[in-house]
Amino acid sequence: MIAENLEKIKSTIPDHVTLVAVSKTKSKEEILEAYHTGHRVFGENKVQEMVEKYQSLPDDIQWHMIGHLQRNKVKYMAPFVSMIHGVDSMKTLIEIDKQAKKHHRKISCLLQVKIAQEDSKFGMSFEEIDTILTSVELDTLTHIEIRGFMGMATFTQDINQLADEFSSLKTLFDNYKDSYNLDTLSLGMSGDYKIAIEQGSTMIRVGSSIFGARNYLN
Ligand SMILES: *Cc1c(COP(=O)(O)O)cnc(C)c1O
Repeated sequence: MIAENLEKIKSTIPDHVTLVAVSKTKSKEEILEAYHTGHRVFGENKVQEMVEKYQSLPDDIQWHMIGHLQRNKVKYMAPFVSMIHGVDSMKTLIEIDKQAKKHHRKISCLLQVKIAQEDSKFGMSFEEIDTILTSVELDTLTHIEIRGFMGMATFTQDINQLADEFSSLKTLFDNYKDSYNLDTLSLGMSGDYKIAIEQGSTMIRVGSSIFGARNYLN
């Protein structure tokens, strides 16, 4: 089923949209089934789980950290992580830079922006984003590359609300993209990726529509 689901989603999304297959809680065998279709981009939300999978799965997988970040765990993924989506402070950027430098790498980062009305969702305000992007300190962080923004919409079926939340982040993205060379807007999950793409998403994070429902809440 996994291969079929993946092909089906890929056939409906535009070429400029990157599909991150969210494999959290899923087994190595399930990931390999997706891998054998040619898919290489996978997302995890726990550092330890991602490290374990990285160690036992093929080297050419690009691992994306999509979960809420704990600064003390950045060091474990710094040797290999391809993109970190959930950056929500300058302190975290500084830590990623420090750890990336140790491995002579440059790590792609997305700043997580709060677009949902729910209090439970993480992310920075538009003001905090501006503070980071315009800070002089950013120029000293030579081992990170801010590629764009990541957002999570409210858990709702209200299509208009979803579209509004996504488009607010697209507007912010358009404001900064030329001056800061941004190319990635990570918006959309299984339930809302079609709306996200309509609103300008360039990267979707899809788990259950590929791998089936997860056994426990994550
Ligand atoms: C789990 C997760 C997803 C994927 O969710 P699905 O609804 O299973 O597609 C996307 N983004 C983040 C940040 C997640 O934690």
